[in-house]
Amino acid sequence: MKINFRETKNIFTKSNIPGIDFVINPYIGCQHGCIYCYAEFMIRFTNHKGEKWGQFLDIKTFDLSKIKPQKYTGKKILLSSVTDPYIPLELKYRNTRKILEKLVGSGAEISILTKSKFVERDIDLFKKFENIEVGISISTLNEEFAKIVEQGASRPNERIDAIKKLHNNKIKTYIFISPLFPEITDFREIIQKSKNFTDYYLFENLNFRPHNIPRILEVIKKFYPKLLPLYQELRRDRSRWNLIENGIKNYCENNNLNFRIEFHHGGFSKS
Ligand code: SF4
Repeated sequence: MKINFRETKNIFTKSNIPGIDFVINPYIGCQHGCIYCYAEFMIRFTNHKGEKWGQFLDIKTFDLSKIKPQKYTGKKILLSSVTDPYIPLELKYRNTRKILEKLVGSGAEISILTKSKFVERDIDLFKKFENIEVGISISTLNEEFAKIVEQGASRPNERIDAIKKLHNNKIKTYIFISPLFPEITDFREIIQKSKNFTDYYLFENLNFRPHNIPRILEVIKKFYPKLLPLYQELRRDRSRWNLIENGIKNYCENNNLNFRIEFHHGGFSKS
């Protein structure tokens, strides 16, 4: 892992994600190195051309005294959109924690999203916020498959344990079932294992992007060869996602779950 430091003038970025006012990405790059990651485009924008996603990390440096917490009263802030706020090196550099500490008492609405068990470290801090939710992203409970597609992230069962601990500490929780791999992601099993300590579920489909298609198809071919025709078909016929979406909707409604489906078909959101 190539580590650099990069000075950042403003750690808050205005967001065009629906319902989110600002995003905070405390790092450039991500140690988790998921093979499907949509944030890989950051390589082009951050002078990392020629480097591999998951093999570099810029630790952002910034002037904490310049953060004016009152500016964010009533604003919804997401950590993070193009990195994971609880990568292993967060334990050393503590960028996420330092920023959150500044925001305590600001009246901002905080949403955390991670694939890391290290989020547990900050439970004490989360408890100081009036309006905070912590989400864990899970695409599969299959440990072997997770090791291949999300090699640097915490194991799925560790993530489930983390969400349980958060809930037991009275923190609002959600599970982001993403990306949903058809015939591989057993969303019912994820829900069964977590529904007693998860406030709501979000679903997002697997999005094929030019950079991730070869890697995804290679993994499917190797580990689920029988599914290869389905995955090739999914790229051509996006209407197949509608069937999957309906299955999720029926299941969640029948089980009285709070949920939201955020399927994007080839990059176009239905919502
Ligand atoms: S954890 Fe998120 S940002 Fe990091 S590599 Fe995986 S998908 Fe990308």
